[in-house]
Amino acid sequence: MTTTGHELDLIKQHLPAWLETSRQRAGHGMVASYIPELSKAPKEALGITLIGADGECVTAGDCGIPFTMQSISKVFTLILALMDNGEDAVFDKVGMEPTGDNFNSMLKLELVQPGIPFNPLINAGAIVISSLIQGASPAEKSARALEFFRRLAGNSDLDYDLDVYRSEAATANLNRSMGYFLKDNGVLVGDVEEVLEVYFRHCSISVTCADLARMGLVLAMGGVDPVSGERLIPRRYVQIAKTFMITCGMYNASGEFAIGVGLPAKSGVSGGILTMVPGKYGIGVVGPALGSKGNSIAGVHLLETLSHHMDWSLF
Ligand code: GLN
Repeated sequence: MTTTGHELDLIKQHLPAWLETSRQRAGHGMVASYIPELSKAPKEALGITLIGADGECVTAGDCGIPFTMQSISKVFTLILALMDNGEDAVFDKVGMEPTGDNFNSMLKLELVQPGIPFNPLINAGAIVISSLIQGASPAEKSARALEFFRRLAGNSDLDYDLDVYRSEAATANLNRSMGYFLKDNGVLVGDVEEVLEVYFRHCSISVTCADLARMGLVLAMGGVDPVSGERLIPRRYVQIAKTFMITCGMYNASGEFAIGVGLPAKSGVSGGILTMVPGKYGIGVVGPALGSKGNSIAGVHLLETLSHHMDWSLF
């Protein structure tokens, strides 16, 4: 038996019990409600899917529930923008540094010249990235992003949750202010409302843990889909994306996550987490109850447990 096979057997054996222990943490968290539609998510839910390079899959808990990608989508729109424009054009408009602020903060846009977002994984940065996706219209840009996500997930059925999309579009006063601020700074080019439409759409793409795990597996394998053998992302852009996931992927709790788990990851306010064990597994987690920094409280606990027992930290 391969080392990975043995490891997966071990995980299969213990995962249900570890998950139930982590689930108890959900009571200390809160489901996001600033996008009203998200508040309907089941607070106590917790699910996980791991997929290995040979397609072998281990699941536990509520891994089948659908949820929207939210900020997790920012990793893949960054990659698409890099593939569309190259590194120089992208890093002309967004920086490479963590902020230490909340994901939706505008503070440093005014405080630190030249007023470009610190990184592509905070809202301001991701909105600028949405403006860089190639396409003749917002609909075409969104269609290209959706198609790219479908290929990475190996799931041609991926689609928007339109209730979440409309709910965010109707209430996003803060993201709207950010868009107009960036436009005034000359960072965002084009029509602000059109750019926001592209941004809200990719945030509202509905997935399950299995979809996140497949997308994570492509990153874990350096940009090649191990199932089809096809290269979907240039190696260099995977390297950039994974570096941002380590430094900024869990918002302003990225340092704590790097110490506790030690793997590249990205979270979203719907409670999803995408992570990976490089060269081995893609992992998708969902647990809608969030801690104070906006990450799934039970999901982070479960990943800490797994990483600790399997000795997965990169550091
Ligand atoms: N769509 C959400 C927003 O813009 C994404 C934020 C998140 O997942 N942290 O606020």
